[in-house]
Amino acid sequence: MHIEFNRNLKSQNTFGMDVSCACYAEYDSAEDLAGFFSEGKQFELPQPFLHIGGGSNLLFTRDFPGTVFHSGISFISVLSDGSQSAVVEVGAGTPWDEFCGWCAENGLWGPENLSGIPGETGAAAVQNIGAYGVEFKDIASKIRCFDAVTSSVRIFKAGECDYGYRDSMFKKSAKGRYIVLSIIFELSREPRPRLGYGRVREAVAGALMSGADTESGKAEEAAAGKLTPSEIRSVILSIRDSKLPDPSVTGSAGSFFKNPVVPKSSFDKVDNYAKSKYGADYVVPHFDAGSGFVKIPAAWLIEQCGWKGYAEGNVGVYEKQPLVIVNMTGKAVPDEIIALKDRITASVVNLFGIELVPEVEII
Ligand SMILES: Cc1cc2nc3c(=O)[nH]c(=O)nc-3n(C[C@H](O)[C@H](O)[C@H](O)COP(=O)(O)OP(=O)(O)OC[C@H]3O[C@@H](n4cnc5c(N)ncnc54)[C@H](O)[C@@H]3O)c2cc1C
Repeated sequence: MHIEFNRNLKSQNTFGMDVSCACYAEYDSAEDLAGFFSEGKQFELPQPFLHIGGGSNLLFTRDFPGTVFHSGISFISVLSDGSQSAVVEVGAGTPWDEFCGWCAENGLWGPENLSGIPGETGAAAVQNIGAYGVEFKDIASKIRCFDAVTSSVRIFKAGECDYGYRDSMFKKSAKGRYIVLSIIFELSREPRPRLGYGRVREAVAGALMSGADTESGKAEEAAAGKLTPSEIRSVILSIRDSKLPDPSVTGSAGSFFKNPVVPKSSFDKVDNYAKSKYGADYVVPHFDAGSGFVKIPAAWLIEQCGWKGYAEGNVGVYEKQPLVIVNMTGKAVPDEIIALKDRITASVVNLFGIELVPEVEII
């Protein structure tokens, strides 16, 4: 266990907040953690404890008074390989996109639609990351964790982790108890293109399949025989490049807010507003969330309130994706981001009566 006091965290959060922590502890194995927690050494370090990955879903609002843990467990290991599938274990500290790139290079299907998401593999299991019609829970098999209460290793099946939209038991009932050590994936060697998301389907059909039929089922069928996971990965990376800021250039934590899930009656009010503004044929983008609920893209709501491309001082709303609050100058302080977040939230409540909830964890 490598321990450092008063460490600056600016390079370890993609928002680029210039904050520090009282103590920073990086471990390399479950044994490291077991030695630490079972021998009572945790009581010698400043409290509270926070585990971070790449800091790409966090907003630090001040110096952290306790101990920040980080995983140094980084590996990709093939546990078994066959003609149709492979079982692969990935260390929690492995950058997520390194794993996606490795799968694509090795002809393995599974995480290609999740290519380019910043952060580490351990956090992917906590966040249930998702993009372009695929979520972490769809491709993960088991999650190996260190239990800080019993000081032992526990393995959960993905189905036991209470996964939901950007949610898991690691963010709720088990928050702070389990440290993700590694993930086991069962990946397919058989083609499994997932082209249910319109923009991916169109890009794949246009760029790689000479304008093949873009109807979902047919595109997937046609793609299955022709495309490689590497090609889908390239399409996904170029779509992401065209609409999301590169964290190494512009600070952000990606989508700041979750897409709200509202009763159908609330959606109808939003839709009536849009019809009076854009004409009777206009339909607000939405997805059926089941049981009489509808998910509305938060980006659409924010754009209607006039925030897209807004800039003031060091902060702004990304001009290509209004869901992303950016540290435009690299010099923003937490209060500026919080103030902008509050103004956006208030304006969406005023116009639509819908309260946006941050996806970003505010520390
Ligand atoms: C430009 C940009 C684009 C993004 N696009 C997407 C996207 O398309 N889809 C998406 O889902 N997200 C997206 N995100 C959000 C973010 O990348 C993900 O949530 C990512 O999984 C966070 O990983 P991280 O390693 O940075 O975790 P952090 O932000 O450091 O931590 C996230 C959470 O995981 C916990 N945690 C981290 N590691 C461990 C561990 N080993 N054990 C236990 N708990 C742990 C932390 O305590 C925290 O609660 C984007 C972010 C940015 C900046």
